[in-house]
Amino acid sequence: MTSTAPRTAIVTGAARGIGAATARRLAADGLAVAVFDLDEAAGLASAEQITAAGGRAIGLAVDVADEEAVQRGVSRVAEELGAPTVLVNNAGILRDNLLFKMTVGDWDAVMNVHLRGAFLMSRATQKYMTEAKFGRIVNLSSTSALGNRGQANYSAAKAGLQGFTKTLAIELGKFGVTVNAIAPGFIATDMTAATAERVGVTFEQFTEALVGQIPVGRAGQPDDIAHTASFLVSEGAGFVSGQVIYVAGGPTD
Ligand code: NAP
Repeated sequence: MTSTAPRTAIVTGAARGIGAATARRLAADGLAVAVFDLDEAAGLASAEQITAAGGRAIGLAVDVADEEAVQRGVSRVAEELGAPTVLVNNAGILRDNLLFKMTVGDWDAVMNVHLRGAFLMSRATQKYMTEAKFGRIVNLSSTSALGNRGQANYSAAKAGLQGFTKTLAIELGKFGVTVNAIAPGFIATDMTAATAERVGVTFEQFTEALVGQIPVGRAGQPDDIAHTASFLVSEGAGFVSGQVIYVAGGPTD
């Protein structure tokens, strides 16, 4: 990183998968990193991995959909690691079902984590960013934003995050804050393993079928997304804002 000052990042849902890889990568880039996750022990373990590798990190149990928990968590980060001027809204869940079987609970749970969570986290951290005249927000969208069978809730949330991204980019640009979205394609994580289970195939079968449709001919890995996030939050990426970057091994749109 070509930083003039050490930065502090918060990565939500960073106990595992894409979030954990992104937290590790930002720490390797020289940022102090706060790992937010529902599961306190898993979040702490993720933070300990970073400190064991020589980075600075803390792990906090924060449900991103809980307004008070978000406020408390963000304040603690500011006290313990410094003003959080980098935010990766990564926490996510799936509650897949065809529309006629989708419950209101399935709908609300997905909206709450992805949309309400990104809103609460961005609102709580923006004051540190605008004060510092520097900020980076990265929202995890998905190729599912373009439509995906069984994911009316998830695709609506991921498309919503794209509008949220562009609006924050417009509002916060004059404070030196950029806001971008990464829309991953198929990334091998617990989340996609759960999808394979839901559709009744092994993860190997699921991966093989999807890889056949991916131009670069392989499954995405959490580090592919971490690498993109690392670029977007870097000091040099200050003129890239309001963009949705599809990281899917080839065109999707
Ligand atoms: P994952 O392995 O399921 O990890 C998601 C993490 O988010 C988990 O640690 C989970 O905690 C945490 N989380 C869930 N609800 C939370 C909440 N309310 N507050 C705080 N943390 C919460 O998922 P992933 O595959 O790494 O996905 C990360 C992000 O990328 C998600 O936004 C996902 O929608 C997006 N994405 C993934 C793919 C893919 O192919 N994997 C593709 C496109 C987009 P628990 O373990 O305690 O539940």
